[in-house]
Amino acid sequence: MSTYKVAIVGAGPAGYFAAQALQNLQTDDLQFSIDMIERLPTPWGLVRSGVAPDHPKIKTVSKVFEKVATAGNFRLFGGVELGTDISIEQLKEMYDAVVIATGSALGKKLGIPGEDLPGSLSAAEFVPWYNAHPDFHDIDISLDCDTAVVIGAGNVAMDVARMLTLEPSELDPTDTADHAISAFKKSSIREVIISARRGPEHAAFTSPELRELPKLEHTNVLISQADIAAAIVRAGEEIEKDTKSNLDAMLLISEKEATNHDRTMKFQFLATPVEIKGSGKVEEVVFQKTGSDEKFSIKCGLVITAIGYEAACIAGLPYERGKVLNRDGHVSENLYVVGWAKRGPSGVIGTNKSDASDVIKLLVSSLKPAKNNGDVSDLLADKKFVSQSHWEAINAAEVAAGEPLGKPRKKAVLREELLGLGGL
Ligand code: NAP
Repeated sequence: MSTYKVAIVGAGPAGYFAAQALQNLQTDDLQFSIDMIERLPTPWGLVRSGVAPDHPKIKTVSKVFEKVATAGNFRLFGGVELGTDISIEQLKEMYDAVVIATGSALGKKLGIPGEDLPGSLSAAEFVPWYNAHPDFHDIDISLDCDTAVVIGAGNVAMDVARMLTLEPSELDPTDTADHAISAFKKSSIREVIISARRGPEHAAFTSPELRELPKLEHTNVLISQADIAAAIVRAGEEIEKDTKSNLDAMLLISEKEATNHDRTMKFQFLATPVEIKGSGKVEEVVFQKTGSDEKFSIKCGLVITAIGYEAACIAGLPYERGKVLNRDGHVSENLYVVGWAKRGPSGVIGTNKSDASDVIKLLVSSLKPAKNNGDVSDLLADKKFVSQSHWEAINAAEVAAGEPLGKPRKKAVLREELLGLGGL
């Protein structure tokens, strides 16, 4: 029997699905010992710090992750950073294979004047802020204006706009960070404009997310019927199923009667942002009507860009256009990559399952005779790390703290606080 040691770097969905794929390929003769290395003291990646808190069903996939983690041949090393605490070369040397699953953490930039003014930020900062990510709890977010503009026409833009326009008490029974709930309760924002540079027929929203908008109990959702009618004409007869479903969902929203709710989410199409203006902080966004020279501007105090992500570079890994350079998930020698770090920021959480499974099949078919080159814990002798049992203590403490408040969990935010809950 051969036991191969595999390191997976990144404890998000792609990392867990890679571990699960390895476990599924085990036989009496082929065993894997899996070490998952994670920068944060908490695992689950975007399931903890990305998925919108008002979408708790999506987070139930964490049950799958915990099943993988407790399967017996799995160790978690949380709070350990690749490139700082440990290098790629050390991992390649020590393990039979190394799988990078570090995602895409950086928000893409628009590259227009004024983008760096205070009051302009990326969803890559705003989303982890409301989700209690330890690195983003104290970023400067001004909600003391009446209008915000969200740039981008994808599901992240929609999550951001929903979080800003829900009646904040609707977030009380969720695991939204306490600091974000209190900021939303004080927020003056009453109108959020989701702005797309192309027409509704090209929007990257998915229709289940659009179909939930008319059900919001305290938010007006406005789409112009004329915009959808024009998009239906432009899309023509040979329309793809998903596009048709999106346009049908947007048509339903556009036909809904106006309500007198306090908060409004409004969609704007065919508007290319060209400049963000303001003296010392955001005051307006200037748009060009896409396909024409006509310009117009919207006064606002907050701009959030949700236009995609790219991978943050880790020393020792090759990158190209925001992703780790790879061929079908193979990077070099015994090094592989899965998830958004491999294919860019696309697809839903489940997409990572088939993606990781394909890469792991390739990895297994290329294994050389097993090495026996020491244990990662030797390299981390002086380092406090979060093991699976520490994480289980953190998890149980957060769930217990949430229970009397009617929340699925009350998240701890600061690293020291999290380590304390884990008994470290
Ligand atoms: P996305 O779906 O790729 O959408 C990005 C949007 O940004 C597109 O509308 C794109 O427009 C626009 N954009 C890109 N560059 C731009 C620029 N320079 N100026 C103006 N607009 C620009 O990305 P995402 O919203 O970040 O989502 C990432 C992935 O996570 C997606 O697969 C998404 O479905 C998934 N996700 C799923 C859920 C869920 O299931 N509930 C929630 C959140 C995220 P163009 O098309 O014109 O380029």
